[in-house]
Amino acid sequence: MIYLDHAATTPVAREVADTMYDVLLNGSGNPSSQYPYGAAAKKRLEADRAVIAAALGCKPDELYFTSCGTESDNWAIRLAAHQNRRVGKHIITTAVEHSAVLEPCRQLEQEGYAVTYLAPDRQGSITAQQVADALREDTALVSVMLVNNETGCVFPVGEIARLLRERGSKALLHTDAVQAFLKLPFRADTLGADLISVSGHKLNAPKGVGALYIGPRCRAVRPLLAGGGQERGLRSGTEATAQIAGFAKAVELRLEGYEEKLARMAQLKQYALEQLLTIDGVVRIGNGDAPHILSVSLVGYPSANVVTELGAQGICISAGSACHRGKLSHVYAAMKLDKKTAAGVLRVSFAPETTEADVDALVSALRRHRETRFPML
Ligand code: PLP
Repeated sequence: MIYLDHAATTPVAREVADTMYDVLLNGSGNPSSQYPYGAAAKKRLEADRAVIAAALGCKPDELYFTSCGTESDNWAIRLAAHQNRRVGKHIITTAVEHSAVLEPCRQLEQEGYAVTYLAPDRQGSITAQQVADALREDTALVSVMLVNNETGCVFPVGEIARLLRERGSKALLHTDAVQAFLKLPFRADTLGADLISVSGHKLNAPKGVGALYIGPRCRAVRPLLAGGGQERGLRSGTEATAQIAGFAKAVELRLEGYEEKLARMAQLKQYALEQLLTIDGVVRIGNGDAPHILSVSLVGYPSANVVTELGAQGICISAGSACHRGKLSHVYAAMKLDKKTAAGVLRVSFAPETTEADVDALVSALRRHRETRFPML
């Protein structure tokens, strides 16, 4: 199989699976238990938290484990709305966020919030100036992702943080960094965001584990889950120790030769772009700078057909976000792509292990598709 869909999910690394197996077999005590078996699980949990916190650039006690990026996003948005309930009921976000951000914002709209959805330009970019123009006295939350999952566009979250500070805004700043964590150098302690969501399965960790950074400006945080008081009372539920251990191991693996891995992905992306553009009718979509995500369109050739046909040949790419399952993505709609271009959008996403031969196989298969299928009218 040629797997070029690392923005959807990533294979669990062997070392990660081994680490989890060890925890499952030998270290599956409850971290809340008082006896040594529980204390050992607690020690391990906190060591794993420290590894991930160090990679994210925050203190371990600012990092809360969740079950996924979606949970982190939902929690961040609810938490900010609750803390700033007396500031007002206005939220700024972008029209191209993941649905894990858009849907909770829509829920808040139903509860009386006004939400400004910033529109991207035709390249998929969002500017800090757009946030400045939309900012109001009653803005409680600004939620802008760090890397867009469909175009790979990098949004100016640091600049937005500075702008909010300069304006003396009480709005909390959340960033969905699910596609950015360890794909883009940033640190929580310098980025300026109050809330940062990350997810394990985009980094060769298993599905079922994510985390939320909750910064010092978040006071009186409302617990997401009430219960036994785990995660310092904010997210109760016995900790998923094996998943968390897998997440920490995956982070350690990513950090080995980190700079080279980023450079390798960026180089592969450039190679893929050059090769794909040799196919008649292929255009680049957006100007995404993230090293692992490339969006193109085989204009006029419905991407669902391409993805199915290539899938049958063992080549995995995506028609935009994996979460949309064939529906025309809200991201490309917001970028105002014409119908035929939007219909043909394909997302190719890389890992450091991806090879030029993988890209060559994709390019040949796509060229064959172009030559043997009819475009839409
Ligand atoms: N945010 C972004 C930008 C994503 O790409 C994804 C997953 O595709 C999510 C959030 C959701 O993360 P999870 O699958 O861990 O719930």
